[in-house]
Amino acid sequence: VPLQEKALINRIRRLAGPRAGAVRVGIGDDCAVLRLPSGHEVLVTTDFSMEGVHFRRDWHPADSVGHRTLTRGLSDIAAMGGTPSAAFLSLALPQRLPQRWVDGFFSGFGRLARKFKVHLAGGDVAESPAGILADVMVIGSAPAGKAIRRFGARAGDYIYVTGQLGASAAVLEKLRIETKLRASAAVAAPHFYPQPRVGVGQVLLRNKLASAAIDVSDGLSTDLSHICEQSGVGAVVYGVSLPLGGTLQQALHGGEDYELLFTAPAQKLIPSKIAGVPITRIGEVTQAMGMWIADGNGRRKRLAARGWQHFKASF
Ligand SMILES: [Mg+2]
Repeated sequence: VPLQEKALINRIRRLAGPRAGAVRVGIGDDCAVLRLPSGHEVLVTTDFSMEGVHFRRDWHPADSVGHRTLTRGLSDIAAMGGTPSAAFLSLALPQRLPQRWVDGFFSGFGRLARKFKVHLAGGDVAESPAGILADVMVIGSAPAGKAIRRFGARAGDYIYVTGQLGASAAVLEKLRIETKLRASAAVAAPHFYPQPRVGVGQVLLRNKLASAAIDVSDGLSTDLSHICEQSGVGAVVYGVSLPLGGTLQQALHGGEDYELLFTAPAQKLIPSKIAGVPITRIGEVTQAMGMWIADGNGRRKRLAARGWQHFKASF
């Protein structure tokens, strides 16, 4: 049985620890008060994690759900090259949810928050009539006018991606078949404990490397289509160059990789590793609209955006 709301909030406050960084006033007053570095703009992102849509209690350990909930927000900040500073978390929990689950959730959430020095600065708790709902808001900052946007890709730019693609979808596919898969196994980490690429995004911004960027949350094909549409360009992806973490289809359309997809002018020297994460050139931006995948012989096929759409609209 979960603690009463007040007890739960006290518990969360202890977990949040002493306020730090940008957070001047954290949990315990009517509002949090944040102070961001002067000359910086505020980045704000919010994401739902819903039981049955983004996770299943029989597949995902509670600490993985907490980790993934925060990853969704941190990855959006990373995609714009920002520095995350505070998180806000609203939870709706079924009355019969074991306390153990709540503790596990906060342990996973808290571990990732400490790793990225993100302070849990507020939130809300309510009883859910059915299913767990976690809504996270992450606040970050970037130097004014410098956040990396989706619209800056130009014909001739190269397309790059961090890490591997399709690894999360590959684990999900295994879960569908075997159900029992140890979350703690290294091979399962990209799905259960994905690492938001905050360090990479910061380097891209600081060194003005990227012309456009997005995080791969819905699948390469869908997220690349966002860059193409907003930049008014097209793209060719080299199938043989994709850093596969699963099958080609999983790499193209599987969701929840939380890698960064970015474009850069061809003359920019992009290191093979940034902040310890491998970077792979996977294609190029074209003047002609539409997306194509090229095989090793240069043959091109249409690439349709059919990444994971949950039953959600991301806006
Ligand atoms: Mg995003």
